[in-house]
Amino acid sequence: MLTTTRRLIASVLLTGLLVTTTLSTAAQAGRVVAPVAPAVPVVTQGPVLLPSAFAPYRVVPAVRLQAKPPPWVLPVVGYHLTGRFGQSSGLWASTHTGLDFAAPEGTPIRSIGPGVVIAAASDGAFGNKTVVRLDDGTVLWYCHQSEVGVEVGQRLAPGDLVGHLGSTGNTTGPHLHLEVHPGNGDAIDPEAWLPTHGLHP
Ligand SMILES: [Zn+2]
Repeated sequence: MLTTTRRLIASVLLTGLLVTTTLSTAAQAGRVVAPVAPAVPVVTQGPVLLPSAFAPYRVVPAVRLQAKPPPWVLPVVGYHLTGRFGQSSGLWASTHTGLDFAAPEGTPIRSIGPGVVIAAASDGAFGNKTVVRLDDGTVLWYCHQSEVGVEVGQRLAPGDLVGHLGSTGNTTGPHLHLEVHPGNGDAIDPEAWLPTHGLHP
């Protein structure tokens, strides 16, 4: 009786060991026992159709899917406006030619729209200045930066880093002086231009 019981236990143990070994060997060899269903919308009504591995996907020739372009952004987050276009002040030689976004030194400055950097250098009263030509030909100046973060020729998408806000040049405190030059001509009021791109400073 005792011997029979021992044999039975040994047999069960051996079978279990074999099964375990077989499964773990298959897993180690990279063989997937159960197929993984592709992600598809779950049908909550009607008959549930189990997708085959390829059913949800098909190749459409000559159609190129493009990512939606990122939205235009205001150049600074967490600012208050301290100088407006057309104001006169002893600080400026003539009337003010841009819009001033005051924020802490070092605040990131973001590219408002898509374009290319056409200048990035110190420019007298404007301090460290990055000039970006947008794809529609409008030229933007980002002035008084503590640090320029781009190079000439660099392509920028909306939201890309332009540099960091500072007080280089002729300023009384850290702020971004933004200028808008349609067609690289005379500066216009940024507060009138920004809303044409859905931005309201
Ligand atoms: Zn200004």
